[in-house]
Amino acid sequence: MAEKKANRVYLASALGCRCPRCREGKLFKNSLTIRLKKNMEMNRECPVCGQPTEIEVGFYYGTSYVSYALTVAISVATLVAWWVIIGLGLNDNRFFAWLIFNSLFLLCLQPWLMRISRSLWISWFVSYDPEWETTEAPDVSERINPDQANNW
Ligand SMILES: [Zn+2]
Repeated sequence: MAEKKANRVYLASALGCRCPRCREGKLFKNSLTIRLKKNMEMNRECPVCGQPTEIEVGFYYGTSYVSYALTVAISVATLVAWWVIIGLGLNDNRFFAWLIFNSLFLLCLQPWLMRISRSLWISWFVSYDPEWETTEAPDVSERINPDQANNW
């Protein structure tokens, strides 16, 4: 009997920007790049199972909250790491050094954060379908306004 391909777990799929329905297809057209417009180009539907990536108009509007939450979480993590490794003093500028470091770090992470936010977002609305190979992907195209896609 042929071994079925091991299914990606949720986190690997979400962090890898895979389609949440089949966990195989890629959500984005291009690999990660610092050219923001190119970076955010999504496949209209999953190239593997056909799951639409834009479920309704303005679907990704809420992702700014996700990236904000991620930004806060990362800032806390770098602050703790800075505190442990370098230390924070009241009488020197180590805290300000962290502020500068953290801003630059977040800036570098921005292209990745924007993608991860969308990937996490869609993964909360589209659930994994283990039978995706035999079931039809939902068709939501009539609710989409293609002119407005990618405006968010
Ligand atoms: Zn898919």
